Amino acid sequence: MPVDWLKGGLKLQGAALWFDARRQAEVSFVSHAHTDHIARHARAIGTRETLTLMQHRVGAIDVTVPLAYRQPWALGDLTLELFPAGHVLGAAQVRVTRPDGHRIVYTGDFSPGAFLTATRAEVPDCDTLIMESTFGHPKYRFPPREQVYDEVAAWCRRHLLQGVRPVLLAYSLGKSQESIQQLAARGLKVAAHESIHAISALYADLGVPIDARRFEGTFEAGEVGLFPPFKKHRPRDVGPVATAVLTGWALEAWGARRAGADVAFPVSDHADYPSLVAFARASGAREVITLFGFADELAAGLRREGLFARAVTETLQLDLFGQAAAPRPRRSRRR
Ligand SMILES: [Zn+2]
Repeated sequence: MPVDWLKGGLKLQGAALWFDARRQAEVSFVSHAHTDHIARHARAIGTRETLTLMQHRVGAIDVTVPLAYRQPWALGDLTLELFPAGHVLGAAQVRVTRPDGHRIVYTGDFSPGAFLTATRAEVPDCDTLIMESTFGHPKYRFPPREQVYDEVAAWCRRHLLQGVRPVLLAYSLGKSQESIQQLAARGLKVAAHESIHAISALYADLGVPIDARRFEGTFEAGEVGLFPPFKKHRPRDVGPVATAVLTGWALEAWGARRAGADVAFPVSDHADYPSLVAFARASGAREVITLFGFADELAAGLRREGLFARAVTETLQLDLFGQAAAPRPRRSRRR
């Protein structure tokens, strides 16, 4: 395995390069600005959008290296290139080419298909693919994004007609901005919690205008509320309310309950199982390493498809002749 899985996260072997280090690192590639992928590094490499959004969250970083998609950049004897990942504005995968020509792709979080507020994910060719596996279990198959937003919009209209305020619950970075634009495209107006509004203003600064008003305690006629999925942020004293959480976990029976919502819609900014398998195949990788969520299950699924795959937490067993045998499964962290 060309990477080490350490306490602070994933690090390239034999080089001072981390991938989404969770603790302050000397040099880290940052795939996107979700809180479980960022820290206040000495030197952070990412897209201009990610570096802007992450500094909104962790404060100013000493040295930032903004890279455009597909713009090769040398870090010592390594060549780095970023590719779009869908997911949220600025999200990127990185391809590291070593001096021996071996190409390693780290996907970060990614999601295929079209977004209104993020660049559509590409599949970079590589030899080793390190891919996220949040929804890496065969039970996760998401309906098309446009279809789910049609259903969300219909649910909102139905409640507005009944005099009930529809309130959507979504993570403040990425899913909220995409949802606002998807609802605007369906003729609905949104009043958003201040944390969502602040990130939306950054999106606008970065050239992606977001069409929502900041919620100041009251709703205007016909407005849909949009709030982070935490109880403390819910609007109070605004009359009858119906809540819907937007999450890939909507496919689970507990999807709505966990967020304290009335219903859940499967709006996800991750790849579902079939997309993960298709992505691994299309990359041409000879070795696939899975991490996050259902890492063991995805690795097992990829092996059934004939790919050489294992979870980052699995140790590879070598037989007497140095041939790789089936990895020994170990428990992986679930999020
Ligand atoms: Zn993410």
